[in-house]
Amino acid sequence: MTTFHGTCLCGGVKFEVDADPGTLRFCHCTSCKHLSGGAGTVNFPASPSAIRIVEGHELIQSFTPEGGSAKSFCRNCGANLFGGGWPDSDRCSVRVTTIEGPVDADIGVHLFVRSLEPWETLPDDDAQRFETTSR
Ligand SMILES: [Zn+2]
Ligand SMILES: [Zn+2]
Repeated sequence: MTTFHGTCLCGGVKFEVDADPGTLRFCHCTSCKHLSGGAGTVNFPASPSAIRIVEGHELIQSFTPEGGSAKSFCRNCGANLFGGGWPDSDRCSVRVTTIEGPVDADIGVHLFVRSLEPWETLPDDDAQRFETTSR
């Protein structure tokens, strides 16, 4: 288990998370595209109880898209922090883009590859691909 330090773009939200990422999960779904402004989000799973908000709790807002799980972001800068229903789920996802310093892990799975856009190319990696979720 490693303790990672995370922050949003403006630095208003700071958090710590104890996790053992192993591999990362790249979600290409349309919600993740919308909220990220790019190809999607790259995440590792964590238990919500393993996430400690150190600063800026009041800045964190959540949005739940229809048919999806809550996604949480910094109200000040818009940076997406957590997905998968944090803090009210058993497992949530942490956006690896919030973590300070390199996270030494490869992409293990590509999710929602059915939502690939014409301008998006999957890397030639060994990661498993799923049309939707891995479950
Ligand atoms: Zn922020
Ligand atoms: Zn997604």
